Amino acid sequence: MTELQILVSQERNLSVRILLFLKEIELRKLYLARGHSSLFVFCVKELKYSEAMAYHRTGALKVIEEIPEAKQAVETGELSIATLSLVQSACNAKKRKTKVEVGLEEKKKLLDEVVGKSKKQTEKILSEHFPEIREAMKPERVRPVGSSVEDEVEVRFNMKSDLNGKLKRLRDLTAHRNPCPTYAELIELMADYMLDGIDPVRKAERMEKKTREKELRKTQESNSLGQSKDEVSAAKVGDAEQLSTVKVNSTANPTSTQNSTLKTSPKSSRHCSVQTERTVWVRAQSRCEHVDEKTGNRCDETRRLQLDHVIPYAISQDSSEKNIELVCTQHNLYRATQWFGSEFMKEKMGCTQSGSPEM
Ligand SMILES: [Zn+2]
Repeated sequence: MTELQILVSQERNLSVRILLFLKEIELRKLYLARGHSSLFVFCVKELKYSEAMAYHRTGALKVIEEIPEAKQAVETGELSIATLSLVQSACNAKKRKTKVEVGLEEKKKLLDEVVGKSKKQTEKILSEHFPEIREAMKPERVRPVGSSVEDEVEVRFNMKSDLNGKLKRLRDLTAHRNPCPTYAELIELMADYMLDGIDPVRKAERMEKKTREKELRKTQESNSLGQSKDEVSAAKVGDAEQLSTVKVNSTANPTSTQNSTLKTSPKSSRHCSVQTERTVWVRAQSRCEHVDEKTGNRCDETRRLQLDHVIPYAISQDSSEKNIELVCTQHNLYRATQWFGSEFMKEKMGCTQSGSPEM
């Protein structure tokens, strides 16, 4: 055996050993304590893997956990980590599409079929085996274009004719604004419309703007009346009090005025006020606020965020913004487990089936 062959063999053994380490990290959720929302993020941020390498390793890990023979196949070179990842990815896509998990025997059979196959051959085999997910297996492409990398990206994806019809309908209905919009302009229109409705940061910005405009109007009115300095000053104090009342009332859900009274009393309810919610979203800049105390590393997660009591409400009885942080689902669960223990949380999760504890 040449030296190179020996090195390659060692490389494969090393890859498997790394997978076993990752398996332990995944099992004990150690990445959460380090301020990461998933093993994938941990691999990219801490281990400096590329996204593709991290994706392949986390996918392969799942296969090795379920089928120990796959580990030997990687060590001997019959299967690569990328191939295991492709198989796992197809199984995940099948589950998402059909809500049915691919069985262990079926997965073993698939692995036998892809032994020694190239990436393209593996993709072809998987596509024939799972015809229902052929479309899902075509990757969507997003790449920066032009010199100003951050300004523009090219996105390629397939859409069904139904969706194309909906976009044409949107184009017709908004023709008075823009008679000939591009697809990018239509998507921006939809995104703004949706975000205006659901983004807490946008809502907070709108409220701030309204308050500022109102204050300005009041000041201009006072000045135009030619009031004395003392009178203007008194009016400002009165307005400020009035505005703060308006601010609280206007953030409440108009369809549930009675509930809003409860929500604006942070000390008497586990639910924080709408104003607190918006303040926290703005403070957090729509990103998980969990920080690893040892490294100072803050979680990067921006999806599935929820408000969390830093000291559980059951203990603190405090729902003010000082005791509320925005965290991802994983860190919400992690924090609750730190406070109440894993046994209690397992029982709690089993009872609620909600995926996010409320303490
Ligand atoms: Zn997080």
